[in-house]
Amino acid sequence: TMTDGFAQRPVESALWAPFAPMHSVRQSRTTIVRADDVWVWDTDGQRYFDGTASLWYSNVGHGRTEIVDAVTRQLRTLDAYQCFGDFANEPALRLADEIAQRAPMDGGKVFFTSGGGDSIDTAAKMARAYFAAIGQPERTVLLHREHSYHGTHGFGTALAGIPGNRVGAPFAPNVTQVPHFDPAALDRAIVEHGPERVAAFFCEPVIGAGGVLVPPTGYIEAAAAVCRRHGVLFVADAVICGFGRLGNWFGIERFGVRPDLVVFAKGVTSGYQPLGGVVAAGHVAEPFWDEPGNILRHGQTYAGHPAACAAGIANIEILERDGLLQRSLKLEGPLAERLDSLTDHPLVDHARGGTGFMGALELDPGYLAATPGLPGQLMQAVRRHGVLIRPMGSALGFSPPLTATEEHLDFVTDAVRAGLDDIH
Ligand code: PLP
Repeated sequence: TMTDGFAQRPVESALWAPFAPMHSVRQSRTTIVRADDVWVWDTDGQRYFDGTASLWYSNVGHGRTEIVDAVTRQLRTLDAYQCFGDFANEPALRLADEIAQRAPMDGGKVFFTSGGGDSIDTAAKMARAYFAAIGQPERTVLLHREHSYHGTHGFGTALAGIPGNRVGAPFAPNVTQVPHFDPAALDRAIVEHGPERVAAFFCEPVIGAGGVLVPPTGYIEAAAAVCRRHGVLFVADAVICGFGRLGNWFGIERFGVRPDLVVFAKGVTSGYQPLGGVVAAGHVAEPFWDEPGNILRHGQTYAGHPAACAAGIANIEILERDGLLQRSLKLEGPLAERLDSLTDHPLVDHARGGTGFMGALELDPGYLAATPGLPGQLMQAVRRHGVLIRPMGSALGFSPPLTATEEHLDFVTDAVRAGLDDIH
C-alpha cells in the first residue's frame, strides 16, 4: 500500500497504465482533471506545478484556446480523411511544409505518424529502405547508444539503451549498442560490422529519459562526422529535444549538425493531439521522390490526421509568437542554478543539465543502495508540496513547460527541498 500521506484514492478501473507497478497503482492513482498553463489539478482539487510538462510535451503549456479552437474548427470542417496514396488533407500539407522549412536539412520531406515510437519504427525502416533503393541492401545494421530511449515499439525496444526496457528482446535483428559519449567507439563498431553493412545511427541530442545526459563538448559533432565518413545515416531523435526544449526547432541545431533523418513527436503539438513524424533530408527522400518504382511500403492509418496537424500548426504559431524558443534558452541557466543549489542536501549527489530547459538531480548512491524505492518516495514527497516531477532510474527529472517563470522555478526548488527534508 502506498503511504504517501494523501487520502488513498482507490480508483476501480480496468486502466492498465504504461510503465506502472499495477499492484500498488491500482490502490492509489492521481487522476488529473483540469489544467491551465503550468498548473494541473487532481480530483481532490489539489493544484500542482507541472514540473515535467506532462511527459516532456506540454511545451506551450496547458489550456491554449487557440489550439483547441483550431482543432475543433478542423473537426467541424473535416473530421478526418486519410493520407495514403494520392490523398491528402490541407492541414497535413501545410504542417509538412512548416516543419520542412524549419528542419536543419536541405529539401526535407515529412512523413507523419501518431507519436514518437511510431516515428522511430518509421526512421528505422526508412533508413533500410533507402539503402535498398540505392543498391546497398546489405546496409541494415542500426546503432544506438547506452542510456538512450527511443520509445517502446518494435524497433524502439531493440534500440533501448535502458536495459530494463528491452522487454521481449531480441526484438529486431542487426541492432548494436555503443557507449554513449565515445565517437571512437562508434567508429570501431562501424568498422567491426563493416561500414557497407551499417545503415543508421540513432542519437538523442541530449539524452532525456535516460537521465538528462548532456553530451560533452564536441561529441555530437564528432559522432556525426564518423557517420558521414562511413556513409551511415545520422538519425537525430528530437522527440524530447525538439520544438523549443533545446531553444531551437529540433535540438540538433545546437551542435551545428545536419542530420539525414529527424524524428519528432511530443512538442510538435504540445500534446493537444497525438502526432509524430520523420523529416527525411532531400538526399534520403530522393530515390523515392525522383525515381519511379520506389515505394516506402509503410504507414499508419492516422498518418497526417487533420485534427492533429491543425494542432501542430497552431502550436508552432504560438511557439513563434510568444518567443518560447528564446525563452527556453533563457531559462536553462536559471533551472540549472536552482538544481545545483539543491546538491548540498545529503540525499542529492549531483545535478545535471544546463543545455536545454531540462535537468536532473542524481540521488546519493549510498542512500539509494539502502532504499531502492527512494526516487519514487521523493516524487511522492515533492508532490505533497505541490510539484510534479519524475523519477528516472537513480535520478529525478525536471522539464517544465517553456512558459514557466523564474518564480515558478523558485517554487519548484522550495518544494523539492521540502520533499527531500521530509524523507531525510
Ligand atoms: N524518442 C524519445 C527520445 C523519447 O523520449 C520518446 C518518449 O519519451 C520516444 C522516442 C517515444 O515516443 P512515444 O512515447 O510518443 O512513442
